[in-house]
Amino acid sequence: MGVFSYKDIYIEDRRRVLEVNILPEKYCNFDCIFCPIGRSQNKVDTQKSFDEMENSLKELEIIIENTKAELVFINSKGEALINDKIGDIIDLIKDKGLPVRLLSNGYLLGRDEYMKIADKCDEVIGEIKVIKEEDFQKIQRPIEGYTLEEYISNMVSFNKQYNGKFILEITIIKGYNDDEESIQMIKNTIKKISPDKIIVTRIEDEKFKKKLGIADERFKEISNTLLNNW
Ligand code: SF4
Repeated sequence: MGVFSYKDIYIEDRRRVLEVNILPEKYCNFDCIFCPIGRSQNKVDTQKSFDEMENSLKELEIIIENTKAELVFINSKGEALINDKIGDIIDLIKDKGLPVRLLSNGYLLGRDEYMKIADKCDEVIGEIKVIKEEDFQKIQRPIEGYTLEEYISNMVSFNKQYNGKFILEITIIKGYNDDEESIQMIKNTIKKISPDKIIVTRIEDEKFKKKLGIADERFKEISNTLLNNW
């Protein structure tokens, strides 16, 4: 048996989507206070080798066949690019004739080695959460030396050369990026990154919803502003 884990297949735009986590435990270059997976014990941004990859790849192939998947979404416990077999995983899915969607927090997309890997995917999702440097350091707790400015410029560089569909997921967080000034800053950032699609979301995890979740009405207002003006 392999070490990847899977969600039940679901339908999206009439396509059967198979969602796969390719990390045995959480590995991320951030340690967000609201992370649904918990604290980052392994805060890294260099690739790692994991056990059981050969079996995991074989199992993935069988699961793709058995579920008749039409798109594979790599959505992992942290930053999927950390798995040093991610290139092989993407190649296997592409060899089966299927499109690949990759979720990354986006920071590593500006680095050559990771850019090349993400370029193989048909769709890449990058993220923006907070929009001020101090908040980035305080609540996303990245690896030392990371800056919000570099985070955004990494996604800008990636998308400039990327031929696939770049999706930007923006999370609205109560008290951090839900004021008018922040919304304006987010709009400017969207313009710079120039994604093909935007998803606006909010903190839904029950553990953090009370403190960081935004009310329906304000969320709707912000979503409309962001989705209709870029
Ligand atoms: S970037 Fe995502 S996976 Fe990583 S710590 Fe933040 S919320 Fe968790």
